[in-house]
Amino acid sequence: MAANQPPRQHQVVRDRSRHTRILERLGEWARREASLPSVIQAYERLLRLQMEGRSSIPAPQPGLTREAAFSQLGQGIPLLKFDQLSLDWTLAQHLFRGAAGILVEHTGQEPTAAAALDQIASDRSLLEQAFRDWYQGQPLSSIAAQKGVSEELLAATVQAALYPFLVTHAEALSALVNQGVWRRKTCPICGGKPDFAFLDKERGGRWLLCSRCDTEWLFQRMQCPYCDSQSQKALSYFTNDQGLYRLYTCSECRSYIKAIDLRKTTAEVLLPLERFLTAGIDRQAVDAGYKAG
Ligand SMILES: [Zn+2]
Ligand SMILES: [Zn+2]
Repeated sequence: MAANQPPRQHQVVRDRSRHTRILERLGEWARREASLPSVIQAYERLLRLQMEGRSSIPAPQPGLTREAAFSQLGQGIPLLKFDQLSLDWTLAQHLFRGAAGILVEHTGQEPTAAAALDQIASDRSLLEQAFRDWYQGQPLSSIAAQKGVSEELLAATVQAALYPFLVTHAEALSALVNQGVWRRKTCPICGGKPDFAFLDKERGGRWLLCSRCDTEWLFQRMQCPYCDSQSQKALSYFTNDQGLYRLYTCSECRSYIKAIDLRKTTAEVLLPLERFLTAGIDRQAVDAGYKAG
């Protein structure tokens, strides 16, 4: 990067340049190591597809005043319903097909899985049903069984295809989220579950990161983000040697969440990438008998 660029004001990159920075970082990594782990290669391919798709998604209007958002969040209702999501169906089908190809190859599935996903992509009403059900947290088991594909692969493909739309909407709505009124275990924008956390530099407050749209929201330090337990006996955390990462566990629901402590670093942090950089912590958590939340 050019030396005459102004210093970054924020250590955590949150604007639209974030995904470009992630791809640059992966490129540097690949040059250093000669090849990337296969899960990272798949992530990079998906991200390139998603960012190319995203470049043709216009920024949506929030469609909601600050007061209306405040009141909705106060009632525990996330800001974005499925029907408010503006989807370009041609692009959504293209993303679904592209993601299916990458995921089938990466997970070593039979070619029949690719054909089944292609049939779903071609059937607009079935694709819409899969998107809606996934977004609303409903199982995809009946569509998966009907087409003979695993539910897990179908859900991963839906998630990858919707990601560019969800992050675009989340960026448009994020300024309407009042962090004081939400404090719940699901995303204030899309209602998704968190899959990563961080402790802020200012006060060490704990924030969660949405697994679906990358929205960040403030949450209690000692409360399980999956079952809401506040039992001091059930909740604990472990830190790595440098104290940079934490693994929070809950013995009531046996779930874990990883976190990065921003007080312990001055480096640029790309939160969506941190999920992948910390795969070693996932292995430790699973070995200790916990599951990803
Ligand atoms: Zn979300
Ligand atoms: Zn729990």
